[in-house]
Amino acid sequence: MLKLFHNYTNSLGLHNLGISLEIRLRSNTRKIEYKYKMDEERVKKLVRELIIEVGEDPTREGLKETPKRIASMYKEIFGGYDSDSELSVQFSEDSDVVIARDIQFYSMCEHHMLPFYGKIHIAYSPNGRVFGISKLVRLVEKYSKRLQIQERLTKNIADELYSQGVKGVVVFADAEHLCMKMRGVRNDATLSSSAFRGIYENREEKESIMALIRKRASNSSF
Ligand SMILES: [Zn+2]
Repeated sequence: MLKLFHNYTNSLGLHNLGISLEIRLRSNTRKIEYKYKMDEERVKKLVRELIIEVGEDPTREGLKETPKRIASMYKEIFGGYDSDSELSVQFSEDSDVVIARDIQFYSMCEHHMLPFYGKIHIAYSPNGRVFGISKLVRLVEKYSKRLQIQERLTKNIADELYSQGVKGVVVFADAEHLCMKMRGVRNDATLSSSAFRGIYENREEKESIMALIRKRASNSSF
C-alpha cells in the first residue's frame, strides 16, 4: 500500500511530499498496532558473537544449537512486545472489589537482562463489568515479557486496567531479582512495588484495600 502511494506521489511530481507522508503513515501504523516481530535469524547471529566474546567456541557440541535455542526462547520471554490487550472482553457482573492474588510472573530486568520474578496481586473496583482472571493473567504477561523494571511493570498494569473505566485499581508486585542475587551486592531481598489508581488513591480506601489484600495473600512480604 505504501509503495503504491509512493508511486502515485512520484507520478504527480510530489516526491518529497510522498516521503514525508510515508513516514507519517508508518508511525501511525506502529502506534495503532504496537506489535513487534523479532528477527530470529539476527538474534542467532548476535548470540553467536556473544558466545565468542565471553571466551567460548560457538562450534563446540554443547553450544552449537545455543543461538537457535536463545532466539526461540527470546521470542517467548519477550512476547510482551507482540501482544494485544484483551481486556475489552468483560462479564456483566458487579462487585465492590475484585482481587486476583498470586499471579506468577517472570520478567527481565532492563539494566542487566537477567530475570526478576515473583507474584503480582491485582485488586480493582469494577464499574458494572468484571474481567476474567485469564485476561488479568494476559495483562500481566503483556507487560512482564519485556525488558522491564519492577516499578514500571506495576504501573503499566495499573494504568491499562484503569484505562478500562474501572473505579479504582491496586497493583502489588513482590519479586526476586537475579541481578541482585548472583552479582553486585548479592542481596537476597524481595522487592515490593505498588501502584494505586482512582478511588484507591484516597488514603482511607487505600488502607482498607491493603488490609483486605494482605489478609489472604500467601508468602507475601508487603
Ligand atoms: Zn538488574
